Amino acid sequence: MQAWIDTHCHLDAPEFTNDVEAVRKRAAFNNVSKCIIPAVEVPEFEAARGLAHRFGDAYALGIHPLFVERAAEDALARLDESLGLYAHDPSLVAVGEIGLDYFVPALNEQPLRARQELFYREQLKLARRYERPVILHVRRSVDAVLKGLRDIPVPGGIAHAFNGSLQQAQIFVEMGFKLGFGGAVTYERATRLRELAKSLPIESLVLETDAPDIPPRWLYATSDERSAGKPQGRNEPGELPRIASVIAALRGISEQELMERTTQNALAAIPGLAKLLEPSRG
Ligand SMILES: [Zn+2]
Repeated sequence: MQAWIDTHCHLDAPEFTNDVEAVRKRAAFNNVSKCIIPAVEVPEFEAARGLAHRFGDAYALGIHPLFVERAAEDALARLDESLGLYAHDPSLVAVGEIGLDYFVPALNEQPLRARQELFYREQLKLARRYERPVILHVRRSVDAVLKGLRDIPVPGGIAHAFNGSLQQAQIFVEMGFKLGFGGAVTYERATRLRELAKSLPIESLVLETDAPDIPPRWLYATSDERSAGKPQGRNEPGELPRIASVIAALRGISEQELMERTTQNALAAIPGLAKLLEPSRG
């Protein structure tokens, strides 16, 4: 367990189409041994699976709340079918990315709000039936996400890019979830989030980049810089160790300790990772 795990990385995103090989090599060079690639919609399932196999990584299958609007009528049936078809694929480790997003105004209005909830709950039922942990997208929706988990218990998982209160964090932890922390903690103004990353029990933390999204501070282009022509920075899994060093410093522990503990936590949340970690491909 001498390497980092990026528990949330969209290597199948269009931003990586042209250089995914180089991106993954840089991550390996920076000692990121495994990525979990969560698919976001049915047409991406094979791409996520293919990349996971190509790089010795893990993948998850699910329909992201931002993609429920354009999801085909048979999307949930297709997810069910794929979870069954790949039930014995060791690289398939979770159902995700699923959840609720009440931040985007259009998604928070009917009929999309109800459609999000339908997809979320039906996917929880699939996770339960196939005994898979889930990778959760939670944005302005903590209470509704927790209610779904109470109604339809699943075998744990990760609340990714967590940004709730300490009390909400504790509820997820009590329900057997880990919380994903990434580039957002690198911003000094993110005081509440940094406080959480510092004070939550270390057992509850996993690391992620959410690449290509959530660029850390050193990649972020301000709106002034963008209007002057500088493109927004693209996050990638190779940034994980530098993000981790910020969290280690906040907690006053060594990067080595953070690496070991968060790897254990990732294995506890997503047990299927264990098979992929041995033998190490280096
Ligand atoms: Zn994501």
